[in-house]
Amino acid sequence: MIFTVAIDGPAASGKGTIGRAIAERFGFSHLDTGLLYRAVGAKGGDPVDAARGLGAADLAREDLRTAEAGQAASRVAVIPEVRAALFDFQRRRARAVGGAVLDGRDIGTVICPEAEVKLFVTASPEVRARRRWLELGGEAAPLSYDAMLAEVRDRDARDMGRADAPLKPAEDAITLDTSEMDIDSAVARAISIVEVALAKGGAG
Ligand code: C5P
Repeated sequence: MIFTVAIDGPAASGKGTIGRAIAERFGFSHLDTGLLYRAVGAKGGDPVDAARGLGAADLAREDLRTAEAGQAASRVAVIPEVRAALFDFQRRRARAVGGAVLDGRDIGTVICPEAEVKLFVTASPEVRARRRWLELGGEAAPLSYDAMLAEVRDRDARDMGRADAPLKPAEDAITLDTSEMDIDSAVARAISIVEVALAKGGAG
């Protein structure tokens, strides 16, 4: 069976958690595509060469989840040649037999426009900044809530404003606004959307 769940949305919207839960529930593979851009940003040197030569060791680095790695990722992600170098790998993973969940910014719009399920997961910048800040320890976090909110806004502006594959919902995406939804309800809603689509039958 070929069946793709494309999950797009801004940083800290809950898309990663929802993606992992769907993959686990249905036995699909899961690719966090943000990690590819984070690895390119972290590698240093020429970003296009880094994207073309990306390997397993680059993706296994332990420093890819930091706020700095997120900012570096969004800076290299505006470069069309970087995006082009990462396209085939994502595309193959999306259409691999057995079902796949990919989360990112352009999965439903560019990587896999024919995905059987397209979700756009979002939440207000304030809610997303608070979530990230609490994840990093709240008052003990290395940066203040206000600094985190500025980071979130900065990355949103870059991701939504770029010319190549900007962050936006696909025309036929279902939007899940998690601003006032706890993560369990958001996961439950996403799972029921996938169940309905599976009942209709995946491609191939
Ligand atoms: O999802 P995550 O926060 O890990 O993504 C890091 C950055 O990588 C994003 O801010 C975005 O600039 C870029 N990205 C992208 N396209 C994707 C996934 C991530 O441009 N499909």
